[in-house]
Amino acid sequence: MFFVPFLTFPLWMVKWLIWVIEAAVLITLRELELHRVVVSKAYAPGNLDFRSADFRQATPLQVDATAELVGPEIRVRGHLGTRVETSCDRCLGQVEIPVDRDFDLFYRPMKSIAREEEVEVPDDELEIGFYSGDGIQLADVVTEQVILAMPMKVVCRPDCLGLCPTCMADRNRVACNCAAPEKESPFASLKGE
Ligand SMILES: [Zn+2]
Ligand SMILES: [Zn+2]
Repeated sequence: MFFVPFLTFPLWMVKWLIWVIEAAVLITLRELELHRVVVSKAYAPGNLDFRSADFRQATPLQVDATAELVGPEIRVRGHLGTRVETSCDRCLGQVEIPVDRDFDLFYRPMKSIAREEEVEVPDDELEIGFYSGDGIQLADVVTEQVILAMPMKVVCRPDCLGLCPTCMADRNRVACNCAAPEKESPFASLKGE
C-alpha cells in the first residue's frame, strides 16, 4: 500500500522542480552592490523556456557573463554559444545552426520608467532593458539573446530547391512533373526561377 504515493507522485512535478533549480540564476542587486558577479553556466536542452519560438535548443548552451552596477543600471556582458534546431524556410527540413553571440546589455530599474519617459533616449544608445524586484534572472537574458540571434531566413543549404508549390513534394528528393510556377508569382522572380 505505502508504495502507491511514490507511483502517483507526478513526474512532471519532479521535472518542473529540476527545471526551476536548473534555470534559476538570479543576479541580485544586493550582491552587485558589493562586487561584480561573474557567471559561467551551461543550460541543458529543455532547461530554457523559449515559449512559442519555432526552434529548439539542440546542444547545451554555454554562457559566460559578467554583471556589474553602472550607476543605477545593471550591465550584463558576455558570450553565449549553442546549436539550435529549426526548419528550412524552403523545404521545411530540419536544420541545425550554431548560435554564437556576444552581448553587452544595460538594465534600468523598472521604477525609473516614469522619469525616463520625459527624457529623450538617443537612437544609438546601447541596448537597454528593465528589471524589477531584486535583480535579473540570467535565464531571461539568455533566452532573449538566443531569440534575437536567430536569422530572419534559414535555409538547409544555399541551393535548396524547396517544396513544389503545386504538389508540395520536396524537390531536393523528387522531381515531380508539375507545370512551372506562374510567372506573376511575386516569389518566382526573387528566387530566380
Ligand atoms: Zn531546404
Ligand atoms: Zn510538384
